[in-house]
Amino acid sequence: MDVDADDVIQSVSTGRMPPAPQVDDILQQAYERAERHHEGRVADYIPVLAAADPDAFGVCVAGVDGVRHSIGDTGVRFSIQSISKAFVYALVVEQLGHQRVLDVVGVNNTGLAFNSVVAIELNDGHPMNPMVNAGAIATTALMPGRSAEAQWEAVREGLSRFAGRRLELDAEVYRSESDSNQRNRAIAQLLQSYGRIDRDPADVVDVYTRQCALSVDAADLAVMAATLADGGVNPVSGERVVSQDVCRDTLAVLAANGLYERSGEWLFEIGLPGKSGVAGGLVTIAPGKVGVGTYAPRLDSAGNSVRGQIATAYLSRALGLNIFASAPQARTPAIDQPTAPMITDAEGLTS
Ligand code: GLU
Repeated sequence: MDVDADDVIQSVSTGRMPPAPQVDDILQQAYERAERHHEGRVADYIPVLAAADPDAFGVCVAGVDGVRHSIGDTGVRFSIQSISKAFVYALVVEQLGHQRVLDVVGVNNTGLAFNSVVAIELNDGHPMNPMVNAGAIATTALMPGRSAEAQWEAVREGLSRFAGRRLELDAEVYRSESDSNQRNRAIAQLLQSYGRIDRDPADVVDVYTRQCALSVDAADLAVMAATLADGGVNPVSGERVVSQDVCRDTLAVLAANGLYERSGEWLFEIGLPGKSGVAGGLVTIAPGKVGVGTYAPRLDSAGNSVRGQIATAYLSRALGLNIFASAPQARTPAIDQPTAPMITDAEGLTS
């Protein structure tokens, strides 16, 4: 990954954001650096996604104070795709608790593709984590609701609370993916055969396909991310969506698994939990500070937005967001000195 961010202003977490005009300047620089990149390919395995404008690019930073900073195409709508997995996971943990979801779905990286069937077989039917399709389908199956329709409404309503507005289904994406999601249907059937889902697998995949087809823009993603950065309270609407503990669990899962097989590389370069989707969206969460939402549909070979990663890498460094970056704290001379009692008098050598 070309992070292209050597001459940035600061590189360690400050505990708070710089003043708004400085954030705007940094956002502009992040955008310009990423905009120079034209590599990557728009996803086409869901046929309708291939129609996206490859040059569309928007970045939005939403603070936990509710202030948004936007640049570029932050109002262009696209399907949320895999990014929904993060928020449905949070909703399910909120309802069922940390342990139950840990037992059923798990949190470990599979090291295999997001839609791998082999990963299920290698792990005795355990989905391993909620950011791969098997784990996400198992998570959606846990969503409360007597019927598939009720589950879908709970998903839509929950994700809408994260965004602070009612999210709509992109019917064209839903149809296109429904016509081409044989692999996800196979995954759901396999999970059922292992007793990992106890609902009709076709219904579960249908709800999952709809959740992936929810229509968002980069500004929505930034607010959704900012809600996870703000201990579960949407900083724009003021509504509590999930608990602080659920945010912590969700961010840990994203840090380990959010960027497909490049999750380790992402954490190494950017140092923040994030989640990408094949339509070109990317969310990143700086706990206690900001959520970042980007949209740029050209993807790297792992399925992550190229420009989104480059812009976010710059923001992470320039805004001092990397959760692993520290600097020694300033010490007063008194603290620098050893505080143990002097031992010049030891063993009666003096006086
Ligand atoms: N709906 C897509 C699938 O299940 C999501 C893929 C993604 O964004 O990674 O294949």
